[in-house]
Amino acid sequence: MGSRLSISFDLDGTLTHLAFVDGVWNEGLPALVAASRGIELDEAVRQCMDAYRSEGDASIKWYQLSHWLDHFGLDHVDEEELISGFIPRIRAFEDGLRAVSSLKDLGYPLILFSNAPRRFLDKEVQHCGLEAFFDAIISLPDDWGTVKSQEEAFVRLGSFAGGDVVHVGDHVRFDCEVPRRAGLQAYHLWRGKGPRRSDSLPSLDHFLDRIVRGQVQP
Ligand SMILES: [Mg+2]
Repeated sequence: MGSRLSISFDLDGTLTHLAFVDGVWNEGLPALVAASRGIELDEAVRQCMDAYRSEGDASIKWYQLSHWLDHFGLDHVDEEELISGFIPRIRAFEDGLRAVSSLKDLGYPLILFSNAPRRFLDKEVQHCGLEAFFDAIISLPDDWGTVKSQEEAFVRLGSFAGGDVVHVGDHVRFDCEVPRRAGLQAYHLWRGKGPRRSDSLPSLDHFLDRIVRGQVQP
């Protein structure tokens, strides 16, 4: 992909609102658990949250719907059908669209680098028209068999891009601290809640500004 600076974006919570994925994990799956176990929805939500928490988001399983369907004894459920019900909730952040469109126009190679499995990622990309902006779209769990909690994922991203990379995303560890440890430049995008660093950026407009002003150098 050439020797100039490549720019890598997280997807969920960075370019797209969480309403879609939250719908699947916090409503869709609990509703199926409630029906299957004959329990109240509130109780099913609690059981799902406990189970997600005990696995933790550093684990690849945390992102895999097949793992959770298996975990809750719901192997008969059609993943596609479960996810599709929430497609109307997919929505892109306006500052994300501005950033990818401007950076694309400026000629930067863009990479979408996500922990979302293909089934989720492809729907978001299509629904938001993101495909045209990216030179590469990578689903870490499905394409590389890993997730962004692993430094090696970012080392591989560096070789994949064939030059310097700056990554940006809304997860303070997996989108900022881990890639920095792997030797990449990285920025945490703070979307108004959760952990925040002193150097977190409040929007992707700020990120774009930093690139355009040359504060991020190859
Ligand atoms: Mg994210």
